[in-house]
Amino acid sequence: MEIDYPLVLTGFGLRNMKKVQIKTVKGFNEVLPPESFRWRQVEDKFRNLLEGYGFAELRLALLEPTELFARSIGGETDIVEKEMYTFIDRSERSLTLRPEGTASVVRAYNQYSLGKSNEINKLYYIGPMFRYERPQKGRYRQFHQLGAEVFGEESFYQDAETLVMLAQLFHTLSIKGVELHLNSLGCEACRPLFRDQLKDYLSRHQAGLCDDCRRRGAENPLRALDCKNPQCREAVAEAPSIGDALCCDCRQHFAGLCALLADAGIAFQINPRLVRGLDYYTRTTFEFLAGDLGAQNAVAAGGRYDRLVEELGGQPTPAFGFAVGFERLMMLVGSEVAPLTLPVAALLPLSEEALRRLFPLHVELNRRAQMTTLSFQHKSLKSQLKKADKDGVRYALIVGPDELAQDEALCRNMRTKEQTKLPFAEIGEFLWERYHEH
Ligand SMILES: [Zn+2]
Ligand SMILES: [Zn+2]
Repeated sequence: MEIDYPLVLTGFGLRNMKKVQIKTVKGFNEVLPPESFRWRQVEDKFRNLLEGYGFAELRLALLEPTELFARSIGGETDIVEKEMYTFIDRSERSLTLRPEGTASVVRAYNQYSLGKSNEINKLYYIGPMFRYERPQKGRYRQFHQLGAEVFGEESFYQDAETLVMLAQLFHTLSIKGVELHLNSLGCEACRPLFRDQLKDYLSRHQAGLCDDCRRRGAENPLRALDCKNPQCREAVAEAPSIGDALCCDCRQHFAGLCALLADAGIAFQINPRLVRGLDYYTRTTFEFLAGDLGAQNAVAAGGRYDRLVEELGGQPTPAFGFAVGFERLMMLVGSEVAPLTLPVAALLPLSEEALRRLFPLHVELNRRAQMTTLSFQHKSLKSQLKKADKDGVRYALIVGPDELAQDEALCRNMRTKEQTKLPFAEIGEFLWERYHEH
């Protein structure tokens, strides 16, 4: 969505410049009202759900040393090779706007020794991420994610609890038709063997692969399994399956998770091609797919990454996490989110004195909730009533010279057009009762 945001600079030393209209950087998604109200309602539901499961919020830096992402996400990935906003700052350091949240959460987990105070750490974040991708529907260069990570628990019960919680999030938001796809990527014992098998297979099918997959074949062969290029899909159709290569522990871990999900009544499909584009995953990986989103159809994704904390300089710590694409989530939420509450009444002053009299009442009433609107221009009654009607308020409280003399307002029911007198002293109670009738 291209947003026209008119910001016109003129005068003040800019006399010699032409009028300029400055716009956002292409693909940087901004959220304007009323959409921002809908976003906050969804954020609140996310926070409530996660805090119910014992998660606490982390508010992290947007900018990180580039090395963090090169070491965690992996050098031979689309994100690191092509999509990061990386620049050299004034001290000649290479910095990057975060392309995802997990690496930063792990960096913080290590930096602040969060594992020392708690055996299990459950952390969540909400915020913008940045990737230089081709902007298209539902995909932006500044986009937003809700994400969570659990540190210190290697049991498949943790994977199951987190996936059930995500399914509950979709349920809470009345999102239907979301499918869970699951896979296991094995561990440091069994994955190297599978990598060798796959490398071997890919070297025999070089001709069918795209340039990226051919080049990455030696370093990151798994990436070819989820390459979106149709020729690669065909080339890997007969490739060895990770499921056959799992060691006994990984097999039990995955089977345990699948059994718990089945018990919880959560439908899922095992997808041996699901490897995710990032290097750090071990064992469980998953995506929640929504058909309504078309080709870019993952609305949430994540998995287990039992080695990453250690690889980024911390103690060996198992971990599991996920991220939800906020823009895509909002495409699925539709109109099911609760409508905005409208003010109950418009205060309509017909003179300067009436405005002066109504102003303290107006600010007092709105201290508790959005109860009233007040026009600071005492225009004609007709134009004020028209505006009140447009704003959708249920009552108009009209105050002209006569009402002012009597210490009362003329209370007009906007639907029935019925008008009654309402003493100033009773306005607060009257509106407070109507407010709760919603
Ligand atoms: Zn294994
Ligand atoms: Zn490819």
